[in-house]
Parts: sequence; structure tokens; C-alpha cells
Amino acid sequence: MSAQDQQASAPITQDVLTIPRKAVDGPRNLVGLTRDQLREALLSVGTPEKQANMRVGQIWQWVYQKGVRDFDLMTNLAKGYRAQLSENFVIEVPEVVSRQVSDDGTRKYLMRIAGGHEVETVYIPESDRGTLCVSSQVGCTLTCSFCHTGTQKLVRNLTAGEIAGQVMVARDDLGEWPEPGANPADVPRLLSNVVLMGMGEPLYNFDAVRDAMKITMDPEGISLSRRRITLSTSGVVPEIARTAEEIGCLLAISFHATTDDVRDKLVPINKKWNIETLLATLREYPRLSNSERITFEYVMLKDVNDSDEDARRLVKLIAGIPAKINLIPFNEWPGAPYQRSDKDRIEAFSNIVYNAGYASPIRTPRGEDIMAACGQLKSATERARKSRAQIAAEAGQ
Ligand code: SAH
Ligand code: SF4
Repeated sequence: MSAQDQQASAPITQDVLTIPRKAVDGPRNLVGLTRDQLREALLSVGTPEKQANMRVGQIWQWVYQKGVRDFDLMTNLAKGYRAQLSENFVIEVPEVVSRQVSDDGTRKYLMRIAGGHEVETVYIPESDRGTLCVSSQVGCTLTCSFCHTGTQKLVRNLTAGEIAGQVMVARDDLGEWPEPGANPADVPRLLSNVVLMGMGEPLYNFDAVRDAMKITMDPEGISLSRRRITLSTSGVVPEIARTAEEIGCLLAISFHATTDDVRDKLVPINKKWNIETLLATLREYPRLSNSERITFEYVMLKDVNDSDEDARRLVKLIAGIPAKINLIPFNEWPGAPYQRSDKDRIEAFSNIVYNAGYASPIRTPRGEDIMAACGQLKSATERARKSRAQIAAEAGQ
């Protein structure tokens, strides 16, 4: 059995991890609390019932629209109330351990979260938008054979605060919080889009992802339109309809193969929910329309899934689903068992899909020099760890 086959046949598990929503001791972090949770938290420290909703709105605006982390700067709250908030709560975001900037302007952040775990977040500037690629888990329970994150065991789910916190940290770094007194609506958005395409399977951490995206979409929160948020899933079928109903963002599916045989190997969750089951669910996706197409992601792997027959099978399979096909040239990582398809092959594949009536853009790999491209998020962390270990070893000699 090849290493690849072994990986593909690894059991599919969903670790259910319960992590504390607040530090064991000390004040509670307000970042990531839903409106209802924040309201409860404010009531618990004596905020009068009649004022609670208004206070939630005021605090959200300070935290998510203005980037304020210090209760004392919340000038529309009475001084005594600010002191009371400071005693009981904190406004905390993940800590940036390192930041790398690619030749093409892509920024990759390594962020430390509670427990000393680390996740990566990538900012990708383009002419008409700036996209933040956010992680939802430390590692991933799934074992897609072409994905570097898939070789890293799941350590834990991120909290809603840690997911929304990645957006806030990126805004800190981009310097895009409005000056005091400025209307947030007048400040151009460098960070205009969010994609849940970093480390982890967002639909195996549904509640935290939903709560964080609600904050990201709320007009008193980070206030990005729901159509500027895309959730990418490997195909967790039972959670797909909920994504439309409870989050309402755009959906991307990591499709990657046109037969169950090949998809079982590339995306092993296919053994649980196969191509037919997945497509049946997508056909019923509540928000499906031409203006809200589903994105099918398709990684181009040399001699594995990139033939003309594959392209023709793909368009047959998805017939009737308003869709766009994003072709992703495979991003290599050390020890990866695949190669990127040749440029001509990717173009021929794209033409077949395009001629069948689907947009079929070929994604330009971004941030390759800093290992920030899709599916590479792990190696830099591991490399950093290794070099720290090396340094420690050398120091000990
Ligand atoms: N777990 C989710 C989201 C994170 S992965 C999912 O699988 O959809 C984001 C995208 O990058 C997915 O489409 C994934 O299949 C793709 N990807 C993973 N590894 C890759 C690699 N080495 N090269 C190109 N794309 C990759
Ligand atoms: Fe997990 Fe997505 Fe990577 Fe598969 S492609 S291992 S689901 S992060």
C-alpha cells in the first residue's frame, strides 16, 4: 500500500472538543460573543435590563468598527460603567507571532491562541478587493491527500472569538481602523472579503464559524456583506443546508474529482458522502440562483484528475447547478505525493468547462514564496518550530 493509499483509507473522525469560552480565572473576553451572549454578560454585571440592548450595540461598534480594545476609550459610556466593564471583561484578539510579506504583497500571519496553539491567516490583496483567508481549526481531522494541513492532526476547534479575532488582527496590521471621529462607512476597506479556506474544515466547527461570521456580517459588527464571505467545505453534507439558513454566506465545495474512486483517495470524506449525495444536496441548496452560484474548487493534479474526460464528466455531473469552477494549480509542499498539472493541460481543461457554459478561472497561486498558498498552511509553522527546536538544541550544546 502506498503512503497515499494509506492516507486515503485513514478513518474519518470528527473530534468533538469542548474548550472553555473564557479563561479559567480572570475576566471574560467579549470578542466573539453573540449579541445575546454579550447581553447576558452585561446583565450579569448589573447593567440595567432596559439599557442592555443599547449597550451591546455601543460596545460592538467600539470593538468591531473602531478597533478599540480599551474600555476607557468608549467615551459614550459613563466613566463608572467603563470601570465596571474593565473589572469584569477584556477585549482580546490572537497574538501575532510572525508576519511574512510575499513579493506579490500577500501577507501571512502566524497567530497564537489560548493554549499556545498556532494558526495561520493569509491576506491577499488584489486590484478590486482584499481577501482574508481565515482558519477555523488548528489542523484538520480530515486527511485529503494533497493538502498539507491534512497531514497535521486536529488539535482543537477555534472559538468564535479566535475566528473573528483573525479579521481584527489583520485590520490592525493593515491600519484600516478609522481615525477617532471618522465615520467607519467612509473608510475604504482594504479587507473587503473573507474566505474560510485556511486551516480546518469549517463545517466541523459550525457554531463557532457561524457566530464569528454573524459578527463579521453585522452592520454594527465588522459589517462586510454576506456576499463577500465564502465558506469552503470538503463536503460535510449534513451541515450544508444549515450554512445557507444560519449563515447565509456564499459556498465553495472542494470537489477535485469526477469519479468516486478518485475522490475517495483525494477527499476521503467522499467515502461517507459520495459525489451523488453531495450533488443532490447542492441541487437543493436554499439560496441557489444565478447570482449566488456555488463555487466548485478543483485542484489540478498531474495525471490524476486533469484529463479531457474528467473535464467532460465534471460538466455533466454539475449540470443544472448554477456554478463556477475555480481551477487551482496544485501547490506543492515538501513530500507531497502529487505534481501540478502542466499549464497547457490546465488551459485545455478550463476551455472544456468554459465551452460548456461555466466560468472556469485558473487561480493564480499567491504568496508561494512564503508558503501561503492554498493547502500549504502548516509547513511554515512546522518549519518555524523546527528552527526553534534547532536553536534550542544548538544552545544546549
Ligand atoms: N477544509 C476546507 C477549507 C480549507 S482548504 C476545504 O477543504 O474546503 C481550502 C482549499 O484549498 C480547498 O479547496 C482545498 O481542497 C484546497 N487545497 C488544499 N491543499 C491544496 C494544495 N496543496 N494545492 C491547491 N489547493 C489545495
Ligand atoms: Fe482539511 Fe480542507 Fe485540507 Fe481536506 S483540504 S485536509 S478538509 S483543510
